[in-house]
Amino acid sequence: MAGVKALPLILVFSALGGFFKILGGVLYGSKAVFVDALTSIANLIALLLAIKYWRSSLEPPDEDHHFGHHKLAFGGSILTLMAYSFVAGVVTLKLLDLREYSISLNAPLMAFLGVICYLVSIIISRRFSIVFTHYSTFTVSELIEGAVVVSTSLVGALYSYLIDYSGAVLLTLYIFYELRKVFTEVLGFISDVAPPRDLINVVKEEFVRNGLSLSELRLRRVDDRRYQGMAYVLLKPDENLTLASSKVDAIKDALRNYGVELVIEFRPGG
Ligand SMILES: [Zn+2]
Repeated sequence: MAGVKALPLILVFSALGGFFKILGGVLYGSKAVFVDALTSIANLIALLLAIKYWRSSLEPPDEDHHFGHHKLAFGGSILTLMAYSFVAGVVTLKLLDLREYSISLNAPLMAFLGVICYLVSIIISRRFSIVFTHYSTFTVSELIEGAVVVSTSLVGALYSYLIDYSGAVLLTLYIFYELRKVFTEVLGFISDVAPPRDLINVVKEEFVRNGLSLSELRLRRVDDRRYQGMAYVLLKPDENLTLASSKVDAIKDALRNYGVELVIEFRPGG
């Protein structure tokens, strides 16, 4: 797969970007660049772990995971939350230190080099498949952060450390915003959310098309493209069970194309 071949390049450029920012934040005194450096490193770790968990989520069902391993993909999101929470704590401590500090002009330079490296890794990742979709949106926000950091650390180095400090505060607030966003996303997936109306209608229509009468339908989201659920079908006392079973099989096959996996049960009635 092309995306996998590009991965080392993406990682090298992301790591290089993080390295420049660490220099700018630690060696050259900019707090704004420091916050950006830590989020970049958290981002890189999150990417690596997301890929690891995404791969294990593709494993077929086995003895200890009868429904498959789809939800293992959320290991990546949960670890993203952990990495960003850790960074949020570290930078908050850094911000609580209110003493005056001075910033070298090398800090905005390093931040700028970091942005260039990120730009390259985004361009590479944009060319490849779905695996990196989440990652490239993450890094676009990295670029915006980069622009904020380059400008505030530059003005901070030339005029007042307070400008650099404000940049650091802004970025820290953004970390908390991202944390909230990722948390909501994860919660949405683990809380058995029903599919969108359109998809529910597709499922119902499939039963109508096959002449079966639906008494109850329950669906829940498993991951981005997958739903599982159960349906209760009302059978008239004189209905042919073999015929009804073959209709059920047809419905299951048709719905599999929409990522819907159904358990269908017969109930007397109709
Ligand atoms: Zn397993």
